[in-house]
Amino acid sequence: MPALKTGVSYYGCRIPWRVREDLEEIRRNHCNFVVHTFSEEDKEFYAQAMARIVKDTRDLGLETWLDPWAVGQAFGGETYSGLVMKRRDLCQISATGEQLPICCPNHPEFRAYLAQWTKVSVEIGAQVLFWDEPHFHIYPEDGTGPGGNAWACRCSICLELYKKRYHEAMPAAQTAQVREFKEESLIDFLAFLCREGRKHKVANAMCYLPFENSSTYSHWEKVAALPEVDVIGTDPYWRPHQKDVARHVGRSAARIAKLAQQYKKEGQIWILNFNIKQGEEGRIPEAIEAAYQAGIRNLAAWSYYGAGYISLASDDPKKVWETLGNSYAGLQAKSRG
Ligand SMILES: [Zn+2]
Repeated sequence: MPALKTGVSYYGCRIPWRVREDLEEIRRNHCNFVVHTFSEEDKEFYAQAMARIVKDTRDLGLETWLDPWAVGQAFGGETYSGLVMKRRDLCQISATGEQLPICCPNHPEFRAYLAQWTKVSVEIGAQVLFWDEPHFHIYPEDGTGPGGNAWACRCSICLELYKKRYHEAMPAAQTAQVREFKEESLIDFLAFLCREGRKHKVANAMCYLPFENSSTYSHWEKVAALPEVDVIGTDPYWRPHQKDVARHVGRSAARIAKLAQQYKKEGQIWILNFNIKQGEEGRIPEAIEAAYQAGIRNLAAWSYYGAGYISLASDDPKKVWETLGNSYAGLQAKSRG
């Protein structure tokens, strides 16, 4: 792969000959890798189409990543999970005893499902697996959410693992020790997934949620230290009319770049390409430049063509897409010297 990686995510169409046209457009727009979503639905109903799409992506010289998009709702993704309904025994349980529509990262059978997902992903040609934002169910941290000070997970597996680790019952309140348990659980989950990837000889990338919360990673270095992780990244998406995008993105990019250097990983920054308001397309090169200046050489945009086909669409998707391509082209030229 070239020294500068410029990519984009792709979803929403599973008709291979239509996707082929989009892939050619992606290559023309100065991208050299594609992050394809590979949801539960894709695995169950579109595996053959996805195999063709992945083959076409690789044939066009684009590095091919696959993303367990919203699988078990324990990863990021704007799609549904059937698993949370079909396998309710895998779901997280809140502190108040409710069954939540999200699988538990500690559940061995959810892990087994993901091991199978990995196997199929590699069989259809994935080169990189993208473990996007693994998390427990996210509640507002200030206790203002519908559940007050609700948190998860207190499923039978978590209760058992907690007891084994701390030699006491898991409390009903989210203590510092519970927070530690949750983070260690997510680290163990990611390590498991990445070992599965390694077993099949593919690379592993991950993405931290860009905010601190007891249901995701707070100590980013613990993840960066995992030997099976190859790429660490985050997605500091800015809000419409945000005052200083370069500063917002630059801060996350500097954090990733520092960790990446320290732990000898590749650092990646995701660039907002959805929900961009008319007239704010110029924020895209500002964000890209800020990430590049911080030392990031792997940039990815979410998602293809300004996301102009989903309800998170940018106001002017074509302009977003062209702006991204021009910005990528400029950086490619700069990196070639
Ligand atoms: Zn659990």
